[in-house]
Amino acid sequence: MAKIIDGKAISAEIRKEICEEVKSFEAENGFLPGLAVIIVGENPASKVYVRNKKKACEDVGFYSEVIEMPEETSEEELLSVIDRLNNDKKIHGILVQLPLPKHINEESVLLKINPAKDVDAFHPFNVGKIMTGNYDLAPCTPAGVMELIRRSGVEIRGKECVIVGRSNIVGKPQAMLMLAADATVTICHSRTKDLADVCRRADILVAAIGKPNFFGADMVKEGAVVIDVGINRGDDGKLVGDVNFAEVEPKASYITPVPGGVGPMTITMLLKNTLTAAKVSAKKH
Ligand code: NDP
Repeated sequence: MAKIIDGKAISAEIRKEICEEVKSFEAENGFLPGLAVIIVGENPASKVYVRNKKKACEDVGFYSEVIEMPEETSEEELLSVIDRLNNDKKIHGILVQLPLPKHINEESVLLKINPAKDVDAFHPFNVGKIMTGNYDLAPCTPAGVMELIRRSGVEIRGKECVIVGRSNIVGKPQAMLMLAADATVTICHSRTKDLADVCRRADILVAAIGKPNFFGADMVKEGAVVIDVGINRGDDGKLVGDVNFAEVEPKASYITPVPGGVGPMTITMLLKNTLTAAKVSAKKH
């Protein structure tokens, strides 16, 4: 029987720590960490995410702004709002909620954000920093995975880590964070041969492909730590991960459930990145 890694509990623990740090940060520096979230258009899922981010900021005592812009906003208008936020001393983190309307070039928008305020860590400057292993800001989901593993007391150094998925937001940065933590890392994708064989080598298996219940017991080594990043809607409308939990749980030593595993960590790591960005900014001034 695996130990269940409780993402909700770990997330709550980190938010409590952030809350405490915000108090001492404000006492020391005379200002609060500030996050600005920009949303363009009416995507209902995006609206929910933005609302959750704003509430999370309020709960830990951050200053926060939500900037809602209409669907027909031009790229220039969006870039000029980012410009203003880049120069706003109250704001230490800027997040542009994706996806953007089709007429706006996502890359131009990402490039416009001051890398010091890029709390998603998607700017090529921060991507490069992560590659060199010398970074302050790491993408929220992979950073959340690292926290879940560390806070469960699992040693990463020297372990075989297999990551399935090579996206720029999850798989690739996850590999760099694991490498920085001294794991031996393999990245798999849709063209990987003998995927099950490769997965069975893993002491730590990170599943991030977006295919419901894809990873069965035959893909997992006895005693492996299994991290399920996948979020999929099952036929019944319920959330399911990429890992077949019922099959894999008896074989694993630790496993994250879906929901309640990696999911709750993403916003928490956004808060952590904002606090980090505020600390770096306070040191400079
Ligand atoms: P992408 O669709 O961008 O990438 C999926 C990756 O999985 C690709 O690299 C793809 O390979 C690989 N893949 C797809 N099918 C297979 C297969 N059959 N065998 C091996 N590899 C395969 O997804 P994301 O990285 O954005 O997200 C992955 C999952 O994580 C999704 O379920 C998403 O909802 C979830 N997610 C969860 C978050 C959270 O907060 N918990 C945050 C972000 C994402 P190739 O490159 O060859 O096409």
